[in-house]
Order: sequence, then C-alpha cells, then structure tokens
Amino acid sequence: MDKQTLWQSVQNKSLLEDVAKGKEVIWLNEHLTSTQQALAKIPFTMADIDDAEERLARFAPFIQTVFPETAPQHGLIESPLVEIPAMKTQLERTSRNHISGRLFLKQDSHLAISGSIKARGGIYEVLKHAEDLALAYGKIKQTDDYTKFASDEMRTFFRQFKIQVGSTGNLGMSIGIMSAALGFHVIVHMSADAKQWKKDLLRQRGAEVIEYDDDYSKAVEVGRKLSDTDPNSYFVDDENSKTLFLGYAVAAKRLQKQLQSLNITIDAKHPLFVYIPCGVGGAPGGVAFGLKQLFGDAVHIFFIEPTQAPCMLVGMASGLQNKVCVQDFGLSGQTHADGLAVGRASGFVGGVMKHLLSGILSLEDYHIYDYMRDIVNTENIFLEPSACAAFWGVAQLHNPQMQQYIQQAGLQNDMQYAIHMPWATGGNLVPADIRETYMHTYLT
Ligand SMILES: *Cc1c(COP(=O)(O)O)cnc(C)c1O
Repeated sequence: MDKQTLWQSVQNKSLLEDVAKGKEVIWLNEHLTSTQQALAKIPFTMADIDDAEERLARFAPFIQTVFPETAPQHGLIESPLVEIPAMKTQLERTSRNHISGRLFLKQDSHLAISGSIKARGGIYEVLKHAEDLALAYGKIKQTDDYTKFASDEMRTFFRQFKIQVGSTGNLGMSIGIMSAALGFHVIVHMSADAKQWKKDLLRQRGAEVIEYDDDYSKAVEVGRKLSDTDPNSYFVDDENSKTLFLGYAVAAKRLQKQLQSLNITIDAKHPLFVYIPCGVGGAPGGVAFGLKQLFGDAVHIFFIEPTQAPCMLVGMASGLQNKVCVQDFGLSGQTHADGLAVGRASGFVGGVMKHLLSGILSLEDYHIYDYMRDIVNTENIFLEPSACAAFWGVAQLHNPQMQQYIQQAGLQNDMQYAIHMPWATGGNLVPADIRETYMHTYLT
C-alpha cells in the first residue's frame, strides 16, 4: 500500500505514528463489546471446540504409545499452571509498582513433544488430517482403538502423502515431529529467523527442511505453491487454518479444570487477565477464543508484540487487517523474538478477535532477555525469549492506559482478586548451550 493511501485510510492515526517510530505503545480495542455480542458474529461455537477435544481424546492412546513422555497424562498434551509469587515480587521491583492480585504462569513452554504452544494447534491439525485420510481410505473407524495409528501398516499408508508448512520455527517443529511420527513425508519451509538447532532437530526426526534467506511470508508462499501443485500434499496454512485455531482453543477447557482444582473462581468480581505473545495470531487467537467461550466477560485478553514486528497491532488498530504489514509503516519486521517475527497478521484471526480482544501492547526486544533472566533467577523456569514478552502485560498494569481499561471495565475495586496469567509460549526444547547464550545476551 502506498504511503499516502495508507495514512489516509488508517484509524488510530496518532497511535500508529508512534508505532511507525518504533515506540512502545498500548492500544485499547475500541471495538470490544460484550462477549455474547462478539461471539454471535463468529462462525464457530463451543461445539467446535468440543469436537476438537474429542478428537484429541481419540488420539490419546496413540500419542501415549509413540511419545511415552505423555504417559503420566494418558496421552493428553497439557501444560502446568503454576503460581509464580517470586516473579511477581521481581516484576513489582522492576516496574516500581504494586501488582494487585495473583500471578500464575501457563507453561505451554513445557508442553510435551515440541515444547511450545504449537504443540496444541500444530499437532492437532496433523492428527485431524491423518484421521480424515484414514477414514476416507477405510483404514480406520472412529470407534477403533487409535493405537492402530502406530502400526507399520498405517505408517506405510501415510508414507504416500506429504504435509508441508512454512514456519519461523516452532510450528514447523510441531508439524514436523508429529507428521514424521505418523509416517508422513513432511517438508518444513523455514524462514531466515528460524534457529539452526530447530532445523537440526527436525532433520534428525526425519523431516525435510528447506531454508529460506527471506522472512516468514516468503517461506509460507513458496511452501504453499509447492504443496498446491501436488495432489498428495497437504499444506498447513498458519494464516487461515480453522483447524489449527480450534486446536489452540481446546486450551481453555483444560485451563478451566486446572483453575477449578486450585479452587480459583473466575467471575465478574474475580477477573482473569491473560497476556499472550502474538505472531501471525493463530495461537493467541485460538486460545483467546476458547477462553472467551468459557469465561466470557470475566476474562480480559491482551496480546503482546515486538515494536519492530507488531503485525496484529497495525492490522487491528488501523482497521485494515491483513491489507497492511509492518513494513508499510517503515518497520523492519526483525526481532530477537523469533516466534513473533511476522510482518503480516492473519486476516482471519484479526476478524475473529475484532470484538473480543481487550488490547495489544508492544515492547522493545531488550525486555525479553531481562524477563528471561528474572524468571530463571526467581522461579527456576526457563522460557525462550519470545515467550517472555508475556510479562510485559503485567509490568504495564500501572500504565495510565491499562488503568483506564480497568476503570472502564468497572474493575477498580476488584483487582485485588484478579488472576494475572502471562502465557509462556515456548522454551522447553531449547538446548543448554543456546540457553547459556541467551542468559548472557544484553540489548539496549
Ligand atoms: C508461534 C509462537 C507465538 C505466537 O503464535 P502465532 O500463532 O504466530 O501468533 C508466540 N510465542 C512463541 C514461542 C511461538 O512459537
């Protein structure tokens, strides 16, 4: 889009001028409505999330067989929810403000199999595709024991099919590992941001990795083209996939159970504030949609993005969605937060989030390494840098705009009962030497 047309067509012009200067901003969503009104406009329902959850349950015996680390949870891929009071104290110290309420970490960083939030949507989409094929070719019935998917016969069957995906790293790992485990020929198209160790690990698991000198959009574009020319190839479309999205949304049902077992009530007087790092939008969007379905107006969702790659922010705040990319605003799209290095957000997710999302905060890269050291030093939990962007939402609660949001939501007297939940999106598979390098990375 040319510069003049761009600035003539944007909403939130002065905020976007700050964004274009690379400043840290907070955008409060002026289109936020009641959850009931918002959900009425969205073409999915709770039944779709239930369907995804049931499919994952059918596959649990297979998952448990092929990935024995999931046996303690009987083949369910689910992450811990832990209170992190020492990190709360540290955030209060560094932000020089009291934080009302309790601080919990949702550790998707520690999801089994691929160590990131992509183990939800990515793995779910591969399983759904495998089930669709197996049903279509009469290889299985829905009532069968899905341990059958681990047999040599099934692996040979899947060998004739390809799965392809474009990725900055973590999505490729989830798709690659699960596809290879089922026997598919899987090709992962990796952008320049993707870390070498992720490519190495994937090759070692039997995936084919194609590397690009270009950014994420290019890897997706080429991957999609190659896949489309091959009738036996299935492309996992991070930007538009409803399947990925629903796989992520299942997180909400699992979280509801975890909160119940901790005796934590979420309601109008006990709000839940969730902060999720956002790249193309699928993972945070899916999780957010599920949470809104279950907790309605009592849950308040903020996405966090890097100042140089705030693709969802420019799309949603401008009102132009995926018609604009961060480069249109003169930003580089480059960030140390490799999982968030996306220039153009998903238009599909932007549309779904239009009336559900509370707002988006952007942060400079140096914070993520500081938070990463803080969470290691206070709670002995390692997260990858991208995931640490989530803490920014908590650190900014004292900001006048966040306070304005709390006032408008009528929550000023209830914040002592609030649950704050940074969503840790990745980290468990990061090798020790890379962790060490990150621990000594200081940006200004
Ligand atoms: C993928 C990813 C995200 C964001 O998910 P999107 O679907 O791209 O928005 C956040 N953190 C990490 C570590 C990721 O890998």
